[in-house]
Amino acid sequence: MSSLILAGCQRNIKETVDIIIQNGKIIDLETGQITQKDIYISNGRIKNLENPDSPLLYNGNKLIDAEGKYIVPGFWDNHVHFRGGKNLISNNRKFLKLFIANGITTVRDAGGDLTPSVLQWKKSISEGNLTGPEIFTSGPKIDGPNATWTGSLEVDNELDVQIALDSLISLKTDFVKLYDSRISGELYLKTIEEAEKRGLITSGHMPFTVNLDETIEAGIDAIEHLYYVMKGCSSMEANVTKQLQAESIGFWGAMPLLLDSYEESTAEKTFALLKANNVYVVPTLYIGKVLSYLDEADHKEDTYLKYLEEAFIKTYEGRINGALRASAERRIERKNLDHFFGELTNNLNKAGVGILAGSDCGAYNSYVYPGISLHKELKALVNAGMSPLEALKASAYNGSRFLKKDTDYGSIAEGKISDLVLLAENPLENISNTQKIDFVIKGDAVYNSEELGILLKEAVIEKN
Ligand SMILES: [Zn+2]
Repeated sequence: MSSLILAGCQRNIKETVDIIIQNGKIIDLETGQITQKDIYISNGRIKNLENPDSPLLYNGNKLIDAEGKYIVPGFWDNHVHFRGGKNLISNNRKFLKLFIANGITTVRDAGGDLTPSVLQWKKSISEGNLTGPEIFTSGPKIDGPNATWTGSLEVDNELDVQIALDSLISLKTDFVKLYDSRISGELYLKTIEEAEKRGLITSGHMPFTVNLDETIEAGIDAIEHLYYVMKGCSSMEANVTKQLQAESIGFWGAMPLLLDSYEESTAEKTFALLKANNVYVVPTLYIGKVLSYLDEADHKEDTYLKYLEEAFIKTYEGRINGALRASAERRIERKNLDHFFGELTNNLNKAGVGILAGSDCGAYNSYVYPGISLHKELKALVNAGMSPLEALKASAYNGSRFLKKDTDYGSIAEGKISDLVLLAENPLENISNTQKIDFVIKGDAVYNSEELGILLKEAVIEKN
């Protein structure tokens, strides 16, 4: 009896929370179910989810009427790059606003040459002094001597591997990103094994001189891009690998051989191995399409060019010139490959392999713009055959699980960080509705559509 009275008293003296979002339709990314709830937010976390019919539990400093709106976890772009050298630091910093304006509340930075700046931004964002998404970063990539990307940690022997991993640990980065331009197959596998021993999360490209099952066995946690998965689906992988080791063919020379020798039974085994080892795959389909059609598409009128400095746009030239120099045969191969990667993504998803939605936006990656490109990736995943729910899952839900951050992120539940997007229309009916953003909530910060518009305006680069 006394406890009942006490409970009654507590209801009368209402506590105040930071934000109350009323009557929104919450999308459960696990089941696709939609339920109407009030969301109480306090100190950047979801304090309660309540039936809208029940009387308000608390007073709210801010009330958001979400009647008719669909609420999803803030989007994750699971593959971005902050990079391009000192001159482009300020332009990269402005991208933080583009991410929030596009509902992206978390990005996974897959390696670059601006690590000190990235870590500084992360800190300022967490302290509320800078508008931007949560950043999880690999810091510099690991590669071999004379690596393609500046800022990479170059390993040439086993001691280098230890030194590189130690340096990443001291930087407190969130995962280890491996690259494949110069690292030997042996040291590549060694790096994964050593990182796993230290409890680090690994993701990467894969030197084509290595077999995919060796990489999975070494313990890799995610495969970035589909070339390497395709290699593991070829009935001729061993033979092609030998040719690559003998240097009688190179990466692009191997591509048509691997494409032509795709074998369903081999693919099924590979998918099962990926799934059994909980290896995520990051298809980066949208950038694949953009790069495959650089020789045809005209990007001069792209509206997102206004967010890029001239020096940033200049970094796009390498890939553009490469595409224009390519032979007619190579251009066709590239387009065939692009088509095949859509099918491969669909097959991976059907086989139950975890998919991560990532755009690969950043300097050098021509016309794949920060912010908007994640929505294009979600669309590409659906065009490939995934359901809108599966595509949404590939963003925040799988992204947080891959980085082992799912106690804080990835779904709308009591206790989780309140990174949310309120959409005007149902994204499960049409994935393009992820762009119909009415509100973005990042922790205890609320951005309505007007404020999101201001962020976009502030991100524009003034040009002479
Ligand atoms: Zn990348």
